[in-house]
Amino acid sequence: MSALSFDPASVTLPWGHFIGGELIGGAGVLPVHAPSDGRLLGALPEADAGMVDRAVRLARDAQRASGWADRPPRERARVMRRWARLVEDHAAELARLETVCSTRPIAETAGWDVPFTAEGIRFFAEYADKLGGEVAATQTDLLGMVMAEPYGVVGAIAPWNFPLVMGSWKVVPALVAGNGVVLKPSEMTPFSIVMLARLAVEAGVPAGLFNVVQGSGTVTGDALARHPACGKLTFTGSTRTGIAVMKAAAESGPKPVTLELGGKSPQIVYDDIRDVGAVAERILRAFTGNAGQVCVAGSRLLVQRGVRDALLDGIAARAALLRAGRLEDGATRYSPIISARQAAGIEDAVTRSLAGGARALAPLARLEGGGGVFLSPCILDGVTGETPAVRDELFGPVLTVQTFDDEDEALALASHPTYGLAAGVHTASLGRAMRAVRGLKAGTVWVNRYGRSADFVIPTGGFGGSGIGKDLGRQAVEANLRHKSVLMAFED
Ligand code: NAD
Repeated sequence: MSALSFDPASVTLPWGHFIGGELIGGAGVLPVHAPSDGRLLGALPEADAGMVDRAVRLARDAQRASGWADRPPRERARVMRRWARLVEDHAAELARLETVCSTRPIAETAGWDVPFTAEGIRFFAEYADKLGGEVAATQTDLLGMVMAEPYGVVGAIAPWNFPLVMGSWKVVPALVAGNGVVLKPSEMTPFSIVMLARLAVEAGVPAGLFNVVQGSGTVTGDALARHPACGKLTFTGSTRTGIAVMKAAAESGPKPVTLELGGKSPQIVYDDIRDVGAVAERILRAFTGNAGQVCVAGSRLLVQRGVRDALLDGIAARAALLRAGRLEDGATRYSPIISARQAAGIEDAVTRSLAGGARALAPLARLEGGGGVFLSPCILDGVTGETPAVRDELFGPVLTVQTFDDEDEALALASHPTYGLAAGVHTASLGRAMRAVRGLKAGTVWVNRYGRSADFVIPTGGFGGSGIGKDLGRQAVEANLRHKSVLMAFED
């Protein structure tokens, strides 16, 4: 047991919404389980349309009454930096709240999710005073200006896979830009974000400016997306739900949407790679990190014939070392699947892929030892574009393998009819890398690395069915502002 290990029974869970600076409970209707061992943790109250309305109105009133958007930008930045410090001061508690209901082992939440959230807040805070509009003196007696102003209230909806990181990427840029925010986290991972909101108030974010409403997508999420006082929506989740959110935005506005959606990201490996072992390790991490429950999971391997066998041997040997373990044990690194239902869906897709002609180089199996549902990494070859495991986002530790002979074939295989979130290229040739970068339909392309190396200044977001707009980068803050054009004539 490492020093990070903890007893989940010792964690006090905040069951409720966080509205107007207070935790608001209610009758528990939505069961929340611990993926660690499937245990029922309790039941979550659900915000109906009335409760959502209250949260949005409060955010709007707080945004107006506090003068948040009119404060000197550096003052807003100071509050945000204080918030980041508080996140670090409460890192252990936040990491435990995240680990009890998500798929993230305590070593990961303490070592990455929480520090990364704090750093993200700091990064966005620095934009507070760098978002001015533009002034154009078009004529001597006429001044033209483009003013950037907040939408008022931004409605945010987040997924379960990295609750704190994904949630904060929605909320923080919106606040920095001067908006109020109402966030609905996933009903499976409702706790850490409540604590994040509490710490925001402690840091000086006006009470009511950032509210959290709990509930299911079809009740709470839909009511939030349709609320007329939400001037903008920002959503991270599946492509299917993103389309529903966009429809709701169109029908209740129209209002602008940022959509960070699903992916089926290819990884192209050329036969000129220098270190096959290092690339095997990279590919393994790309499809088994968080047990594949990552939007940018590199789940489609496209490998040049000459290096195929050596690479697959390297991946399979490393995959066999992954072990299940209790998430609250600091030694655990591998994640369970979020729910029994999700695991059954992954297993079904693999079974259908095998029935359609795919061959398992490493079979999908349940790993014993963690208590929850842990799936072993699965490697499938003999697949085509029609194989379910190639076509559909499985959100599990499944890698499909397709072999190519030349660059054109690699790029043709890489192209997916729906998704365009991310891609990886592994080669020693700069020319090959650049031709792939230009040819790939993907919002992010990694060359000779994959995933997790996100630098805050580099935006992230998909093409095509993988989304609209960007999280991170300057773009994420600017997406929370609208631009007003002013033409002012001078009259004596
Ligand atoms: P999901 O689409 O099932 O749910 C996402 C959120 O939307 C949840 O809070 C859910 O309650 C809510 N929701 C569901 N139906 C709704 C509706 N009709 N109206 C409003 N809200 C609704 O996704 P998930 O299973 O929580 O997360 C996994 C998905 O998220 C994967 O597809 C993954 O690729 C994607 N994802 C994308 C990114 C990215 O940056 N592109 C990052 C993380 C996850």
